[in-house]
Amino acid sequence: MSKGVGIESAGAGKLLIDGAWVPAAAGATFEVIDPGTEQVIGRVADAAADVDDAVQAARRAFDDERWLRLSGAQRGVILWRIADLMTERVDQLAHLESRDVGMPVSQAKLMVAEAANQFRYYAGWADKIHGTTTDIGPSERRLHGSTYKEPVGVVAMIVPWNAPLIAMSMKLAPALAAGCTCVLKPSEEAPMSALALGTILIDAGIPAGVVNIVTGFAATGAALAEHRGVDKISFTGSTTVGRKVVVAATANLKKVSLELGGKSPVIVAPDADIASAAAGIALGAFWNSGQICTSGTRLLAHASIYADLIEGIAAHAVAMKVGYGSDPDTVLGPLVSRRHLDRVAGFVDRGVADGARVVIGGKRMGGRGFYYPPTLLAEATPSMEIVRDEIFGPVLAAMPYADIDTAIDLANDTEYGLAGSVWTRDIALAHSVARRLRAGRIGVNIHRGGGVQMPIGGYKQSGWGRENGPNAIEEYLESKSVVTLLDR
Ligand code: NAD
Repeated sequence: MSKGVGIESAGAGKLLIDGAWVPAAAGATFEVIDPGTEQVIGRVADAAADVDDAVQAARRAFDDERWLRLSGAQRGVILWRIADLMTERVDQLAHLESRDVGMPVSQAKLMVAEAANQFRYYAGWADKIHGTTTDIGPSERRLHGSTYKEPVGVVAMIVPWNAPLIAMSMKLAPALAAGCTCVLKPSEEAPMSALALGTILIDAGIPAGVVNIVTGFAATGAALAEHRGVDKISFTGSTTVGRKVVVAATANLKKVSLELGGKSPVIVAPDADIASAAAGIALGAFWNSGQICTSGTRLLAHASIYADLIEGIAAHAVAMKVGYGSDPDTVLGPLVSRRHLDRVAGFVDRGVADGARVVIGGKRMGGRGFYYPPTLLAEATPSMEIVRDEIFGPVLAAMPYADIDTAIDLANDTEYGLAGSVWTRDIALAHSVARRLRAGRIGVNIHRGGGVQMPIGGYKQSGWGRENGPNAIEEYLESKSVVTLLDR
């Protein structure tokens, strides 16, 4: 039987510290709002005063090796069990995520599956983390060298609200496989699935203190980023907050990895299959109501196909039903909060004032809930705010280009470097454009794709380090070399 709160009562207002569900020390809680109805769906604890307890618990669990002492294979079995429990509880998790973030339940189910895959993939890594040996020489003194891979220690994980289960799993699975202990802070906008995941971790057999979960606001994240008991901070969120985390981390020079914002370009060549490009670009821009870091939000289309493509994307976008997450017809849910709705609407209004043409959308939807329709803004220009800033909503800004070199220059004319895509039937062109884009992930005839095996992360101000694949394991490891004198 579960030692923690049940998944149904995941909003029970507790923190997971040292294997127990405890109220916040100051007794403070805050409301969680369903963005589709504006109803309060739960209250969670505000852990601003509990960060030290959580870090101390993770520190003890690391120092007494209660997790590391298990063999890699045993850790792998527990990680696999987490994935199985997520799969068993997919319906509850998906409904919880949908009510908290707003995304359609069908989409939330895909995200649960993707999150479970993280644990399965890194379960396989847990017993394959090792160093190498080497003879050092030649020399008159025979030396033997061995290298070891050791966990980096206590990791603080801070995540955003847009796809919480995936963001948390992308950090927890490799960190646990590597032998680290963790303090996890979900976003104040969508904390519910973190608590449900906490229950799963306990049920799967994660020892007390190995994963601690603190819900709260910026102050909780800032306290983690500053805490001297934390060895590494793994942050996903905005570039603005990422900078603050870096500054705070200097207190004890903790290791930092950052998955930050993006403003990803979409380049469409004149020979592209326009019908399938239109469908794929609409999905790449508007899925999860544009609240995805890799969303393709700057369209650069060759002038000869620009008008047809705009028409095609608009047709796909208007067919995307905007509605409540549990309605089976819903393709796009609401934005996460009123504050975010106001922010997105403000960007669009200023873009129109700057001279962009609204092809579809562009006006907030009435009634309850934070709904905003897919919005296509044509005739954008490179200096416009809608082209330069991350909006993180269902807004695509389109520009025609005359030649591919100009398109690549425009695509790279951004402080971000997270993702991009190129649409063409010419494989040589596709690869040459992919290589010239300064971004961490490029799609060819698809905007977003790739599973847990494929590294993801940012060039430029989109981040430091990579998640997914073997790279993520390295993010949670230190390398040690031991040199032994063999000749006496
Ligand atoms: P945010 O940066 O506002 O918040 C992210 C997290 O940081 C939250 O948990 C928040 O409470 C916490 N936080 C806020 N201030 C803090 C501080 N001073 N110190 C420490 N923690 C603090 O981001 P958001 O609005 O939740 O999410 C949207 C952003 O996340 C977008 O910019 C998006 O591109 C980015 N994102 C990036 C990726 C990626 O993989 N690159 C994935 C998803 C989202």
